[in-house]
Amino acid sequence: MRCLICDHPADTFYDEKLKVETYHCQQCACIFKSHETHQALAAQKSRYDLHENNPEDAGYRAYFQRFLDVVLTLVGTPRNALDFGCGRSRLLSEMLIEQGVVCDAYDPIYHPDMEYHTNKYDLIVSTEVFEHLHDPKMVFEALLDRLNAGGYLAIQTQFHSSTVEGYRTWYYRQDPTHIVFFTPQTFRVLCGRFGCTYVGDNGKNILVLRKD
Ligand SMILES: [Zn+2]
Repeated sequence: MRCLICDHPADTFYDEKLKVETYHCQQCACIFKSHETHQALAAQKSRYDLHENNPEDAGYRAYFQRFLDVVLTLVGTPRNALDFGCGRSRLLSEMLIEQGVVCDAYDPIYHPDMEYHTNKYDLIVSTEVFEHLHDPKMVFEALLDRLNAGGYLAIQTQFHSSTVEGYRTWYYRQDPTHIVFFTPQTFRVLCGRFGCTYVGDNGKNILVLRKD
C-alpha cells in the first residue's frame, strides 16, 4: 500500500482489537486504516449527530479558546478566515468574528455553503477534521488554494505517538470515523511537497503552516 500523503510504500499491520488492516508510513509517519473501513457521509452523519457540541456550553467555548490561543499567537490577527469542517455549530467562527475577523464557515454535512469556493483567506482553521478525510492530501491542496499568499492553515488533530505499539492502545483510533492519523512530521512532508513553511505546533494536537 502506498502512503496517502507521500506515496512512499507503507508497512502493514493488523489492529486486532478493531479488526482493521492498518498502514504505517516510515517516511512521513502517517498511519491510516484500510479503505474498507471508510464510511459514506450518511453513515458518518449518524455518528456526528451524537456529538454533544452545545455552543452555549462554557466548556466548548474554552476548548476552542485553547485552540485560538495557540493559533493566534503564531499568526497574529488575520483580516478574514474560514472554519473548514465546522460541524453543526458555528461557534469557532463566531468567536473569531467577536475578535473582529470576518469569518466564513463550511461543513459538507451541516453547512454546505459555497462562499469558500470563491473567497481567499488569510487564515483557514480546521479542527478535528483531518482524521476523518479519505484523501487528506487532496483536501490539504484544496485549502492551500483558498489561502492568500502569506496566509495560514491551522489544523487540530491528535498527534499519534509515532510507534505502532503506541497506536495499538490509543483511544483516538477507536472512533470508526477516524481513519487517518498524523504527527508534525506528516505535515512537514506535506509542506515540503506543496511549498509551504511549517510554522509550529503545540506538541500535542495543533499545528500551523504558512503558504509562501
Ligand atoms: Zn508517507
